[in-house]
Amino acid sequence: MSHPASTQILVAGAGPVGMIAALALAHAGFDTALVGPPASKDDRRTTAIMAPSLAFLSKLGLHDDGFAGAAPLRTMRIIDATSRLVRSPTVTFHAAEIGETRFGLNTPNVVLNAALEQAVSEHTNILRVENSVTHWKLSESFAHATFDEGKSIRSQLVVAADGRNSPAREAAGIKARRSELPQAALVLSFAHERPHGGCSTEFHTEDGPFTQVPLPGDRSSLVWVTRPDNARELLALGGEELALRIEERMQSMLGKIAIEGGRQVYPLAEISASPVARARVALAGEAAHVFPPIGAQGLNLGIRDVEDIVAAAHAHRDDPGASAALEAYARSRLGDVTARSGLVNLLNRSLISSFLPAQIARSAGLAAMREIGPLRNFAMREGLRPGSGFSALFRSSREQVGR
Ligand SMILES: Cc1cc2nc3c(=O)[nH]c(=O)nc-3n(C[C@H](O)[C@H](O)[C@H](O)COP(=O)(O)OP(=O)(O)OC[C@H]3O[C@@H](n4cnc5c(N)ncnc54)[C@H](O)[C@@H]3O)c2cc1C
Repeated sequence: MSHPASTQILVAGAGPVGMIAALALAHAGFDTALVGPPASKDDRRTTAIMAPSLAFLSKLGLHDDGFAGAAPLRTMRIIDATSRLVRSPTVTFHAAEIGETRFGLNTPNVVLNAALEQAVSEHTNILRVENSVTHWKLSESFAHATFDEGKSIRSQLVVAADGRNSPAREAAGIKARRSELPQAALVLSFAHERPHGGCSTEFHTEDGPFTQVPLPGDRSSLVWVTRPDNARELLALGGEELALRIEERMQSMLGKIAIEGGRQVYPLAEISASPVARARVALAGEAAHVFPPIGAQGLNLGIRDVEDIVAAAHAHRDDPGASAALEAYARSRLGDVTARSGLVNLLNRSLISSFLPAQIARSAGLAAMREIGPLRNFAMREGLRPGSGFSALFRSSREQVGR
């Protein structure tokens, strides 16, 4: 029997998180293999990549000018469009309020994935295998991935970026709490009559958020979270009828609209894996956490997973998959992942729940964010990156004490 090829780190899954992980680890000097089929070329979603994630991608050689078809996100607005007894006031956040020119860039997924594929193909430290892993063998001292007709690769560490049903997670015996939600997201892009001014508007409805996000020119993308039966019905509508429904939902804020290209529906779920690392496997992206698309958090959280994996691997360079490295990674992710997933799930559930106290709490939270300046700034900074809200608050109280 021939010996398997070996590498220090194997990344399973070539979605956005897997590609970013492979690039970041290779950039940090690790021999890396990226195993998985190419990401879909027919993904109609766009992703709001926030400023700290853009800064990280830039360090890997992926600069803004590589994201053709992306638009800056300067303002974010939340409008309560429910017809409930207790409704929240409209809340608007401007990046300029925290001294930024933009919160991030709204980028078509096909553009992001193509830029990542290109960067991966140009990196000399990355072995790219375009097959799925079909079998895992995990032992105390190595991981062994079989991917095609008995071909295999042995590694010290596996980064499992193999999505919400993660086979590597299962092989490592990591448990995942999962609930399928009574919601699905219809996604599409559209042109409109009036300019969006770099503003994204999230309408909160009884079925979930309906979110318009700017694209270049007088164009936007849409994520319409609704009941699965309604999403199927919207998917089947003629273009003009669907355009009217969207315009109506948006209270004609952007004038007449025309739908561009195709549409897709994504089923929604909450998934939370714990611990996020064991048995030579570290989970990243949707293999570790899945929640509904509210506030553009999913991929940005996955990018922070990658940052922490690189830090843990760097600190245990001789054996990046050793228990000490995995424990350090799991510890570093605990607060961020728990807080982000918890907050997004809570907000989503408070929207679809008919439980009055939940609606009062959501409404009071949004009202406080609208009225209390330091809380608004804190929320905006924390929305971009965990801890940055606290450090800004600390800086400003130190300045006030000093005065
Ligand atoms: C409608 C919608 C809108 C969103 N908008 C935003 C947003 O604006 N901002 C944001 O930050 N996030 C957003 N998200 C979340 C974001 O899309 C996800 O966090 C991100 O796509 C997860 O990427 P991933 O690489 O972890 O998973 P995936 O993209 O699912 O990739 C997993 C990969 O693993 C591969 N794979 C599976 N099994 C194997 C195997 N056995 N061997 C090898 N490979 C395997 C698959 O082929 C796939 O390519 C949104 C999500 C939705 C549904």
